[in-house]
Order: sequence, then structure tokens, then C-alpha cells
Amino acid sequence: MSNSTMPVIFSGHGSPMLALEDTDVTHGLKTLGTKIMEKFGKPKAILAVSAHWYTRGTFVQSMENPKQVYDMYGFPQALYDFKYPVKGDTALADRVLSLLGDRVSVNNDWGIDHGTWTVLCHVFPEADIPVVQLSVDGTLTKDEIYEIGKSLTPLRDEGYLIFASGNVVHNLRRVEWENPNGSPKCTAFNDAITEYVLERNDKAVMEYEAVPNAAYAVPTPEHYLPLIYMLGAAEGEKATVFNNHCELGAIAMTGYAFGLSGLSA
Ligand code: ZN
Repeated sequence: MSNSTMPVIFSGHGSPMLALEDTDVTHGLKTLGTKIMEKFGKPKAILAVSAHWYTRGTFVQSMENPKQVYDMYGFPQALYDFKYPVKGDTALADRVLSLLGDRVSVNNDWGIDHGTWTVLCHVFPEADIPVVQLSVDGTLTKDEIYEIGKSLTPLRDEGYLIFASGNVVHNLRRVEWENPNGSPKCTAFNDAITEYVLERNDKAVMEYEAVPNAAYAVPTPEHYLPLIYMLGAAEGEKATVFNNHCELGAIAMTGYAFGLSGLSA
């Protein structure tokens, strides 16, 4: 593959406090951004699929200046003061509309939510790459989601980065606030899915309900489904794992980069 084809990224995001942290995970995100810049140059814009824009129907944003959404409650003021002031990109929105046809429509009610900005602020700290969000459509089958991802593939040859933020394991009811690592169930599910992603056994990743501990790891699908869009957008390509780490008992921060070699796990 030529280096003119942008990679596809799935990242975990966990607690919104990630934006303010300086940890191994944030270092992993910084390294990811550096590698992308080195190998591909600066993306023209980013198409971001966030678990926190979970909708009935598929929507894309088409705004010059999307607002930053502080869609979280009860955190320190510093987090609400944190700015990641990216522009939108209506040309990218138009490309998504033409690639997806009647499967998508424009919706500008939302903005850049914490699933996106708490991660991208580490990957691309300059906030100088426009971002367009695409919603996670809760009405689609997993095959349909995969097909949406696949239909977006041409964007990668046009200088656009396709990026998703979610979690392989995300169970807020089972969070263990004092646990810096994952519970045994969390780790087992994370390891199983990671192995399937590395094998490109997409069917097994998509049929995650059959993987042991699925009810614990994925009690609701919105944080998991962004991964399926990325599998479609990078069909058949090798994955590299980054930030392979579970925390707070029931959150996996694990990320996968497709079409980007040389990232250490
Ligand atoms: Zn989240």
C-alpha cells in the first residue's frame, strides 16, 4: 500500500479526564499522531465516529465551526474549560453524502463530543485538522455498519483520516474506581477481541456476543460499534495494537491502527 492512503484508527477513550491526563495511554496517543504525521503527512481532515453520537439513522455534520460538546457531568471545572477548537469541513461532509447516498443525511444539532476531543487533543494537539463527526447508527445491523465503513474507504486516498472512538470493554456499572487495571473478565474479553482483530477475523469481532464475558464487556453496543465501522473502512488490512490496557476494572483503552505499521504495542 502506498503511503498516500491514510490509515484507519480505532481508539479507546474511557473517562473524559483523559483530556487532562499525562499517562502511558496519552503518550501512546501522542506517538500515534507523530507516526501518522511522519508517514502520511497531515490529514486534510478527520472523519470521526464517536460512541457519544448514538442515533437512530446515520448522520454527518456539515458545519464550518462545529461547537465543542461537553457531554459529561460532575467533572472538575478544568475539564469544562478545556478547549479543542477544531474547524469543520463541509467538503468532507459532501464527500460522505456522495459516498453513502441515501444512507446518510446532514444533522448539525450535535458537535465535537468528548469521545472525539478527549482523544484527538493528544493525537493532534495543535487542533489544526478539521473534524467532521459521523454518528453511530443504532438501527443498523452489524453487516450494514461494516458496509458503511467500507463505502467510506475512498476517503483514505483523498487525504482524509477515518477515526473512531469507543471502547472494546465499557461497563460503567461495573467500574472499580480504585483499580488501575482491568478485572479478569475485562482483560479476557479485551484479549480475545484483540486477537480476532489481529487475525482479521472480522466475523468473530462482529459476533462479539458469542465471545465469553460479552454481557459484562458490552452491556450496551454504542462504545463497541465504532470498531465495526473501522473494520469495514480497512477491510483485509493488517492491524497494529496500541494502548493495550484495561483500567478501572471494566474499561479497555485498547486501540487498533489499520494500514499503519511500526507502532509499538
Ligand atoms: Zn464514552
